[in-house]
Amino acid sequence: MKKTLLATILMLGSFGSYASELPKHWGYAGEGSPEHWSEISTDFSLCQTGKNQSPIDIHGAMQVKHEALSVIYPNDIKQKIVNNGHAIQVNVEPGNTLNLDGMTFALQQFHFHTPSENTINGESFPMEVHLVHANDKGELTVLAIMFKEGKENAELASAWSVLPQKENETHDLAKAIDLNALLPNNKNYYRFSGSLTTPPCSEGVRWLVMKDQVTVSTQQIAALKAALHHTNNRPIQPLNGRVIID
Ligand SMILES: [Zn+2]
Repeated sequence: MKKTLLATILMLGSFGSYASELPKHWGYAGEGSPEHWSEISTDFSLCQTGKNQSPIDIHGAMQVKHEALSVIYPNDIKQKIVNNGHAIQVNVEPGNTLNLDGMTFALQQFHFHTPSENTINGESFPMEVHLVHANDKGELTVLAIMFKEGKENAELASAWSVLPQKENETHDLAKAIDLNALLPNNKNYYRFSGSLTTPPCSEGVRWLVMKDQVTVSTQQIAALKAALHHTNNRPIQPLNGRVIID
């Protein structure tokens, strides 16, 4: 009897400290997984309560005439590749820009997800890159490109040869990734309003997702997964009446 009570108290004690201890880091598995992001910090509440969250499944898009993709990506801008523990990210020096809605958005960084976060008509892709741009008011435009499995992506080859394997490991890219060459030939895109797909899940993000995919080899996908040690896609979020433009 005594022993049982003691065991119960010990169990309660450990459960109590477990329950009151918030996970300190967000991630993609276990205590810090996407369904727990809003519990990690009050700053992350939109991850739970937001109505315009990303990623989404792109379907039922409305055919609307919209502006052509307008980007200026000079190929001589320095890039650094970093493993930030959540994604493989390439930090860029200033000079790459995207024009949309009469505003200029400057590329801040781009990073890779595996598998894709957004899906198209229910289809998931093995990889997705997010090119994150900001205007001078701090508003964001994310340009996303999907990768399907196929031929090796020659534009990624050089960067992939120095993929940082450890968190916070960084390498200068001797040969910068040419973003023009990374884009598909067909520049048509879907457009919708969404959020950051990582905490704090801030909304009001302009999302452009290229309709056509580019290829990446089985080995290149495997190398990204190996460097990350985990998948890094947030689950699909509800549309809640948002319109997708085609
Ligand atoms: Zn992303």
